[in-house]
Amino acid sequence: MHGRWTVLASIMPVVGLACVTLWGGAMMAAETGKAVKGTERGFITRPQEDAVVGALVAQHGAGVEARARRGVHQAALYWRPADGTAEDFAAYCGQHFVADPRLLETTYRRFEANLEQVSGHAVALNRALREPMECDTGDPLPVDLRFAELNVFDHFNDDAFAAKVAFDALLNFPLARLPELLEQGAGFTRRQWAEARLGAAFQMRVPGEVRQGETRAFTRADDYIANYNIFMHNLLAADGSRPFPEGMKLISHWGLRDHIKALYSDPLGNLDKQRLVLRVMEHIIHQTIPAAVVNNPRVDWAPVTNVVQPGADAKVGGAISGEREPDTRYARLLDVFHAEQAVDRFSPVFPTFIDRRFQVDRELPEAEVEQLLKDVLTAPVAREVAALIRARLGRPLEAFDIWYDGFKPRSALDVDTLDAKVRARYPDLAAVQAGIPDILKRMGFAPDTAAFLASHIVVDPARGAGHAMGAGMRSDSAHLRTRVPAGGMDYQGYNIAMHELGHCVEQVFTLNRVDSVLLNGVPNTAFTEAFAFVFQSRDTDLLGVGADDEAARARARALNAVDTFWMTFEISGVGLLDMAVWRWLYVHPKATPAELKAFVVSQAAAIWDQYYAPVLGVKGSPLLAIYSHMISSGLYLPDYPVGHLIQFQYEEQFHGRSLAGEMERMCVQGRLTPQQWMQGAVGGPVSAQPLIRAAQEGLKSLNPR
Ligand SMILES: [Zn+2]
Repeated sequence: MHGRWTVLASIMPVVGLACVTLWGGAMMAAETGKAVKGTERGFITRPQEDAVVGALVAQHGAGVEARARRGVHQAALYWRPADGTAEDFAAYCGQHFVADPRLLETTYRRFEANLEQVSGHAVALNRALREPMECDTGDPLPVDLRFAELNVFDHFNDDAFAAKVAFDALLNFPLARLPELLEQGAGFTRRQWAEARLGAAFQMRVPGEVRQGETRAFTRADDYIANYNIFMHNLLAADGSRPFPEGMKLISHWGLRDHIKALYSDPLGNLDKQRLVLRVMEHIIHQTIPAAVVNNPRVDWAPVTNVVQPGADAKVGGAISGEREPDTRYARLLDVFHAEQAVDRFSPVFPTFIDRRFQVDRELPEAEVEQLLKDVLTAPVAREVAALIRARLGRPLEAFDIWYDGFKPRSALDVDTLDAKVRARYPDLAAVQAGIPDILKRMGFAPDTAAFLASHIVVDPARGAGHAMGAGMRSDSAHLRTRVPAGGMDYQGYNIAMHELGHCVEQVFTLNRVDSVLLNGVPNTAFTEAFAFVFQSRDTDLLGVGADDEAARARARALNAVDTFWMTFEISGVGLLDMAVWRWLYVHPKATPAELKAFVVSQAAAIWDQYYAPVLGVKGSPLLAIYSHMISSGLYLPDYPVGHLIQFQYEEQFHGRSLAGEMERMCVQGRLTPQQWMQGAVGGPVSAQPLIRAAQEGLKSLNPR
C-alpha cells in the first residue's frame, strides 16, 4: 500500500515538496520560441526577448545580462495571450526583474518560506480531508469519498501563473533542465541545487481542468482494480471439486499472487491449487474471463474449461452468461493514456507522459532504467537461484514459480511465536507510537536523534495494510498508518509497519534536517522504498528472534539476499513491459482496447521468452502482464526493482559502519539527481551489482561446497 499515496501525489499538482508538478526536477526543451502546433505555449518571439534584455541591461548595467537573458527567455516560454501583450510582457520584466543582489537574496528566502507553506498546507489539508477514508476511525460517510476526491490545490498552478508569482520565479531564478543537472550538477553549490528546485516548481503550466481529467481517469482505473475480486470458493477444479475455502475473496493481482506464495507452505500438496490460480490470471490477462465471475460470489466457474454455472447458494436458477469481459482492463488503461495526451498539449517542455515520468519524476533517463533492469535479468546468478528452487521443490519449475516464496527468513520461524511476541509488545496503537524511540535505538540511532525522529512521527490506525505520508512543512509531522486489530498487532502488521517506519524516518530527516526545504526529499520513489526495505528486513532481529546467534543472523542475511534477488528478477520484467506498453501507446494513439491487449500479451510473452524461459524452462507465459499497477498507476512499476537494487547499495554501505549515521548523512543531501545523490551516498552510481553480489554470496553460504 505504500506506493499508492506516492502515485496519487505524483498526479496531483501539489502534494508535498517531493511532488512532481510543483517541485519536479527539470525544465524546457524548445529553445527556438517557435510555436508547436496543437500545444499551448508562449508567443513572445526571440527579437522581442532580445529587446527586453537590452532594456534591462540599459537599466541595470552589463553585469545583469546573463541572468536577464536566461530569466526573460524562461518567462517568455510560459507567457500566453491571457497574461498580456508583448508590450505588457516587456513592462512586466522591466518592473519585476530583481537586479539588486540583496533584494534578490531576500526574494529567494521569501520563495523558500512561502513554497514550504503552500506545500505543507496542501499536504496537511489533503491528509485531513482523506482521513475518514484512509484511517480506521469509524464508518466513512458517502460524503467522505467526495471530500477525498476534492483537491483544493488542483488550481494552484493556474493561480500562481495568473497572480504572476510563477513568472517572478521564472524571471529571476534559473530553471535547470535535466541534461544541465546531469552535466553540471556535480559542480553545483548547495544554493545552486536549491535554486534549481525553486525554478522547477513552475516548470509545468497545466490547467486545473486538465489535471482534474487526469485525476478522474486514474480514479476510474483505480476503482476498476479495487473492485476486481475473485471469489475463490466458487472456483471448480477439473474434477468438479472446490479446492478453496469458503469466504476467500482475492483481489487481482495482489491477492491472487500472494495466495500462490502462501501455497508454497506445502509445495507438492498445493501444486494443483497454484495451477488453478495461474489459469485465473491468464484468463484475466487474455480477458477470456467470464464477466459474470468478477466480484460475484453467486456464480461458479471452472477456469480449466471456462464454463460458468449458478453458484450453490444462488437463489435464481437458469443459465448464466459466460460472455467474456469485453477488454475493460485495457479500455481503462487507454483512458489513462488519453488523459495524459490532454496534459501533453499543455506540456511542450515534456511532451509525453514518458518524459514526465522519467525526466521530471525520476530524473533517471529511460535508457538508464532499462539497462538496470536488463542487468538484473541477464545476471547468471538467476539460473543458480532457479536450480536451488527446483531442488527445494523437487519438480521442474512452472511459470508461477517466479513467485517462489520459500527464501523468506520468517519461513524458518514459527509464525505463532512471532505473532505472540509482537502482540505482547504492541497490544494497541498507543504502544506502537510509544515504541518508536526504542526501535530506533535498537537500530543504532543516538537517543536524542531517536527522540527527535519519534517526535515527528504520528501513528494512525490504517484502513488498509498501512502506508507512510511525509509532511510538507517542518511544523507538521510524518504519519505512519498501521493496523492493530483488537487483541494486539500480529507479525504481518508489524512487518509492514517496519517498512512504513523506514519511509517515515527518511521523510523526517529529508524535511527537517536538510539545509534548505527546497531540497526536501530523496531523488525519487525508489530511494525511499529502499530505506523502507532496509527497515523491513530487520524486523525479526529487532524483535529479538534469532538475534542472539551469529550463524542464524548470517543465514537470515543470505536468505534475504537470495529472496530479494528473485523478487527483483521477477519485477524487472514487469517494469520492462510497463515501459514497452507506454512507448507502443504513443506510436499507436488510436489503438482499440483489443489492439492494446494483443500488444500487451505478445510483448509479455516476448520478454518472458527472452529472459525467463531460459531460467525457468517454461515458454511463452503472459504472466508479467497481470500486475494491476500497469492499468492504474501509470509507469510506476520500474520503481520497484530499482528500489531493491538501491536497498543493497545501502546495505553494502552500512556494512561495518553505523546504519543510523550513514542513513542520516545520505538523507540530508536532499533531493539531488539520483546519480549525484548516489555518488554522495555510496561513492558510485545506481547499480545492480551489489544485489547480484549479495545473491551470489548468499547462495554460497546456503549451498556450502
Ligand atoms: Zn513503501
